[in-house]
Amino acid sequence: MNPNAKITDEQFEAYLKQIRELAEGPFEEIQKEVEVTNTFPEEFYELAKKNDLYRFYLPSEYGGWDLDELEILRVQEEFSRGPGGMRMHLHHAADMNWRILDDYGTDEVKAELMDKFQDKTVYCNFAITEQTGGTGADLHTTAIKNADGNYVLNGEKWLISHTDCSDYTYVIAVTNPDDDKDTRLSGFLVPNNAPGFEIVPMPHMMGCRGAGHAGLKFTNLVLEPKYLLGKEGQGMEIAIHSLSVSRVHIAMSNLGMAQRMLEISLKRANDRITFGKPIASRQMIKAKIADMQKMIHVLRCAIYDFARDFNKDPHNEYVTEKAAICKLFSIDTVKLVSDEMLEIFGGDGYFEDCPYGPTERLYRDCRAMWLEEGAPCVQRITIARECQNHGGKIEYTFD
Ligand SMILES: Cc1cc2nc3c(=O)[nH]c(=O)nc-3n(C[C@H](O)[C@H](O)[C@H](O)COP(=O)(O)OP(=O)(O)OC[C@H]3O[C@@H](n4cnc5c(N)ncnc54)[C@H](O)[C@@H]3O)c2cc1C
Repeated sequence: MNPNAKITDEQFEAYLKQIRELAEGPFEEIQKEVEVTNTFPEEFYELAKKNDLYRFYLPSEYGGWDLDELEILRVQEEFSRGPGGMRMHLHHAADMNWRILDDYGTDEVKAELMDKFQDKTVYCNFAITEQTGGTGADLHTTAIKNADGNYVLNGEKWLISHTDCSDYTYVIAVTNPDDDKDTRLSGFLVPNNAPGFEIVPMPHMMGCRGAGHAGLKFTNLVLEPKYLLGKEGQGMEIAIHSLSVSRVHIAMSNLGMAQRMLEISLKRANDRITFGKPIASRQMIKAKIADMQKMIHVLRCAIYDFARDFNKDPHNEYVTEKAAICKLFSIDTVKLVSDEMLEIFGGDGYFEDCPYGPTERLYRDCRAMWLEEGAPCVQRITIARECQNHGGKIEYTFD
């Protein structure tokens, strides 16, 4: 355990257990209704608060426990075993929600808001994706300075999570339209109650229900300069750095889901008797189990390696590359593990209310991971770019 942490080893291990029981117990119960309504009831937020799920990841100066990155990720693994939409909400809470403001906010806004994350008095979503263009220099939402020195925001965002429970939105927009590179872009913290801020409803998703997805529309929304994040032109850099860490949280989400899928598959394979023997004794089933465990183990090692480097230096040379590797490999992992789970369960796995666990919901929920925070192509582009820059060999330090 990190020696600076505000809780002991024993308290931390007990907390992990508490979060697993919450995710697989009360959260699963609540989710049955959320699958239909697509909205979290107040009871979910209250349980999350009561179980410190808006607090555990924060530095103590903001009311948190001073956990290190690996410890934060280990909590994420536990709640990721539960419903995907809740996982999405809590994953975002633990990461970009507060980290972007902490890393890039002005002193004035940080003094106003940083101690309000611990009990969800403040929650910030993140909006980069647009319907009208590609993510990067091709964004079209603009934030142009007016004569008073304020920025005026116009444009749209699409596929944005947590729009129904957020107070602010981190928006990446064009401030320097004459530039043809990513330096066209800047980041802003936008109060959702500002005049000109509008939420555009979207249809229900395949899985991860309840996480408040919608489009956003900005019409002549006026922003004071204190809401600029970092410097003008730094928008893409802010997005890339923030998404790097968050991509590892996605990888850990996949690990949590894959671990649960493997465990319930083992139970089912032991219980299911065909032709007088448990299917777990058949070599074809053993091969599936071995392949599932192989992927899960390697993914865990990659995430733990990332977290160790990140704890030493959050801006180390390999953050972006290793984060993209973790995310990409985690998609391969959850793809293989969910497919094998379904085969091991046979027809029963395709139905709701499977007594071993929510097989059909896990299968749907995990597919959001293909897209969340960058499709596999984008991860490959990132890995290849970094790899070509440093000549191909990652240097490892073992201590
Ligand atoms: C559940 C969910 C939650 C999300 N939450 C958020 C959120 O909170 N905030 C937010 O900003 N966005 C969010 N998104 C959007 C998500 O980040 C994007 O869907 C994802 O990055 C892919 O972008 P796109 O949908 O615009 O696909 P497109 O850009 O249309 O891409 C389609 C395919 O083409 C490939 N492609 C596109 N351009 C290139 C290129 N230049 N070179 C090679 N291949 C390319 C892509 O990799 C992809 O495979 C969310 C999406 C989902 C599904």
